[in-house]
Amino acid sequence: MYTTTVTQYEEKKEADRTLEKDVEPLPVPRERTPASQPIIWRNVIGIIVLHFLAVYGFVSGYRDAKFWTWIWNIAYGLTTGFGVTAGAHRLWAHKSYSAKIPLRIFLACLYCMAGQTRFYNWIRDHRTHHKYTETPADPHDATRGFFFSHIGWLMVKRHPAVKEYGSKVDMSDIVADPVLRFFDRYYEVIMVSLCFVLPILLPMLVWNETLFISVHAAFIRYVWSLHATFVVNSFAHMWGNRPYNRQVSTRGSHAGRVKPTENPTVSFFALGEGWHNYHHSFPWDYKAAELGAYGLNATTAFIELMALVGLAYNLKTPSKELVDRTTMKKGDGTNSLWGNHRH
Ligand SMILES: [Zn+2]
Ligand SMILES: [Zn+2]
Repeated sequence: MYTTTVTQYEEKKEADRTLEKDVEPLPVPRERTPASQPIIWRNVIGIIVLHFLAVYGFVSGYRDAKFWTWIWNIAYGLTTGFGVTAGAHRLWAHKSYSAKIPLRIFLACLYCMAGQTRFYNWIRDHRTHHKYTETPADPHDATRGFFFSHIGWLMVKRHPAVKEYGSKVDMSDIVADPVLRFFDRYYEVIMVSLCFVLPILLPMLVWNETLFISVHAAFIRYVWSLHATFVVNSFAHMWGNRPYNRQVSTRGSHAGRVKPTENPTVSFFALGEGWHNYHHSFPWDYKAAELGAYGLNATTAFIELMALVGLAYNLKTPSKELVDRTTMKKGDGTNSLWGNHRH
């Protein structure tokens, strides 16, 4: 049973850090004036074209798309999501569980199918986001507004603080991982093949889908899956309750309502990554949520299934006492799942 592989992660240092995180002085000046961040026009145009192709493709092609094209793209999009959530995020960025080589290779393939960026960049940005949440060193600092944290941060050059502090994040485990080294080295070829060529060609060869519809369906799936990741950085940093850490940001135009939240809608679209107030409090929990509601945490179900068949092990989770202590000390008095008062 998977439960035999779950370890209650009680390391003193980690528990203390969880409780004391917000009282530690941040190394980044909180009030540093926004540095000039020139627009990267190539990215702006790319993002606009991508969205145009997706919307135009949907409007002009949805009536003619074959049944199996719908099924194929929905299934493909969902599957790629696990590469991001169970792979890049919970396995590699947070080391919240361990995985045997076949599972690591499988997750690396799924991750490349999602076509986001190289593992190294994704993981460095994510670790920087956790370490310097809502400071100028946060790559998608939510105090700068919804648009910036959702997608705008990809349209401008990085803030100097993001570069400075991001370069100090420990990435030695990622550099030492042979699977990640291989996939990052051949990223372009693998990504283009798995994110575009395969999903476009297969429907044409197997059930005679047209080139026009197959290409546009792939763009729709790609744009959809990008937003499913982006909503965690925007919606789940703005709207929802805060059962584990009620403190809100004092910075920026959105001060007072920014800090990671519990957001079931985001969890639905992001395969369980919307329990974000919990996740920022216990980033090393493989569930990324206190409660295991599989309907809204498909990634947890996936990891537990992998543990059941012996491919995942050393699943880390905090003790109930530690969660309760954190909740009582810092939470806003609500319950993570239903929004009820807890105490
Ligand atoms: Zn976050
Ligand atoms: Zn995270």
